Amino acid sequence: MTIVPQSLGQLHVNGELDDAGDSSLYYLHDANFNVTGLVDRAETAVVERYMYEPYGRVTVLNGADDADESVNDWSVDSDPDTSDWSNELLYCGYRRDAESALYHVRNRYYHPTLGRWLSRDTIGYMGGIHLVAYLLNSPLKATDPEGLLYGGDQPQPGRGRPRYEPNGPTPLTPPLPPPRWANIQLQVHSGDSCCKEDSDAAIKAANQRMNTGKCKQWFLDHDASGSDTYHINFHSSPFKVMCYITPMWTWALSHDIGVCKSACDYGVDGMASLFIHEVAHHYCPVLGGEECAVSAQEACRD
Ligand SMILES: [Zn+2]
Repeated sequence: MTIVPQSLGQLHVNGELDDAGDSSLYYLHDANFNVTGLVDRAETAVVERYMYEPYGRVTVLNGADDADESVNDWSVDSDPDTSDWSNELLYCGYRRDAESALYHVRNRYYHPTLGRWLSRDTIGYMGGIHLVAYLLNSPLKATDPEGLLYGGDQPQPGRGRPRYEPNGPTPLTPPLPPPRWANIQLQVHSGDSCCKEDSDAAIKAANQRMNTGKCKQWFLDHDASGSDTYHINFHSSPFKVMCYITPMWTWALSHDIGVCKSACDYGVDGMASLFIHEVAHHYCPVLGGEECAVSAQEACRD
């Protein structure tokens, strides 16, 4: 007797394929697609039932009119991990190979005793560092009918299928905290820069750097969050005296940054770097602030 699984709905039991005496067995499954039993409709009897461990090891229970031809007390079958009806669709509807006791889940083989895939995630480390982990070791939370669901930490929408839960799906990982962000903008507030074109370009460059890449990360790491705007004041009067004391200015007070004309000598790149230095002072401690602000310049050296 051979069996031809047709779908997760019906199983044809054939003597010969053209045998008029062929009968059909029907699958019973639960909401998570675990096959829980086989029914012979002609006999109106459940002929086999299945129990599963969380990771999918199956125990076959004898049924009425069992192929063993005797028992119907739902005792454990004498061959407890083999279907008497050669049924291969079991845990999560995965196809189980009776000889190897492995599930063949489209893209990968799954080992229910180890609770591991036997090959790496098809997208490698993109799916996280756990290349062979099955469903983040949480098999009760999901099924993975394609063998593609991540084994790592990051959810990947569209891969795998949430397991049915009467009260709605449980997220596979706790929700991530909202991303921290910082939007730091420099503006010319006032002044009479002698190098307006260069200083405008420097402000633009500084803005671009402070909001991308390593430079942005520096500000995030120094507790910048939300939106902050700083004003560059060329020679604004409260700071003018500084430019007489020293050829270099600059002073960061509240959100105003005073700049002396000598800053123009630094060119666009140099000015951008100095602007970033002054903004960084806002995120640096008073003690050791200079070293801290210099480290921002390093991180922001595009
Ligand atoms: Zn400084």
